Amino acid sequence: MMKKSPVIIITLVILGCIAAVFLLPDPPPDEFKRSPFGVMGTTCQLTAIASPQKIESIERGLDGAEAALRQVEVHMSRHLDASQIGALNAAPAGEIVELSPDTLQLIRRSRELTEKTAGAFDPTCLPIIKAWASAGKEGRVPSEAELALAKKLSGWEHFEFVDGGIRKKTDGAGIDFGGIAKGFGIDQAAEAMISAGIDRGLVNVGGDVRCFGRRKDGGDWMVAVENPFGGEYIAVLGLRDEAVCTSGNYERFMDIDGKRYSHIVDPRTGFAAEMTPSVTVIAPNATLADAWATALSVLGTDGLKLIDPDSGIEAMIVVGDPEAYEMVRTDGFDKHIVVDSGRAAIQ
Ligand code: ADP
Ligand code: MG
Repeated sequence: MMKKSPVIIITLVILGCIAAVFLLPDPPPDEFKRSPFGVMGTTCQLTAIASPQKIESIERGLDGAEAALRQVEVHMSRHLDASQIGALNAAPAGEIVELSPDTLQLIRRSRELTEKTAGAFDPTCLPIIKAWASAGKEGRVPSEAELALAKKLSGWEHFEFVDGGIRKKTDGAGIDFGGIAKGFGIDQAAEAMISAGIDRGLVNVGGDVRCFGRRKDGGDWMVAVENPFGGEYIAVLGLRDEAVCTSGNYERFMDIDGKRYSHIVDPRTGFAAEMTPSVTVIAPNATLADAWATALSVLGTDGLKLIDPDSGIEAMIVVGDPEAYEMVRTDGFDKHIVVDSGRAAIQ
């Protein structure tokens, strides 16, 4: 028998150990969750699916996502006087208001969406929203004259882009990002996680969601859509690399003199939108899904034909009342439905 030299044996053992380290499968991915408190006045959950070995990236991604959400709120809430939108709304005509790149980006994207939705989604309708709020406080609906003035003050023509900011052309014009900022924040949070190296996860802010990659068990993410009339969900959706946002009138509405009005206004007429029970939109990102959910609340089922079939946007509108309701959906929406509440689609 040939005698092996100890040097060769030690070398083989070392090589074996190195090979074992490289050939060993990664430990299975785990689920890491965080629930930041007080984000955008609602509940928030961040979920990352990753190998525990990547704990530093996971922490960095979750920290970044939380910070991104808080930053969107601090920059863009019209209810915070110190926010950029607060400053823009308070500024007189002619004054240049400096805006950070994220706020400018959302203004540009909103302006495009006003065009794509035939004027139904328009954050410059703040004067109309304010007219309804102040008349509502007095227990009445705004007068024709008040609405005519508010409508005149609404529209992108009252804003001018200048280097690094915006100049209002008309006193009293302003912006309300209530119909899109949540979606934009969700996207910023998801992107913070992805850029930290997390390639599977979910961001949920008040039931509006963006997910990326697959669930821990390898399946699609499941998102339940609330039944606007109460009770359980109306549908469960399977999603991957998509966002879903719902706009509803059954939780948020204006109560004026005992009558309910939508918290969404029709910028084209100045009136409160019809009380569409709920609109759910699936889109490649949450900014689009949020804005389209608000737009379709204004447009109703007629608005479905404005959706570009190649855009990846799909929608479901619940119409009717608790006794007799129907779900009107775009063709592509159905492939996302994992559990249907049993009602037939009429489109
Ligand atoms: P939520 O998800 O909180 O119900 P939505 O996405 O439905 O909010 O948007 C409603 C909010 O959008 C309103 O409270 C108001 O701030 C703003 N808004 C109302 N009407 C419009 C409109 N036609 N276009 C853009 N924003 C609007
Ligand atoms: Mg919205």
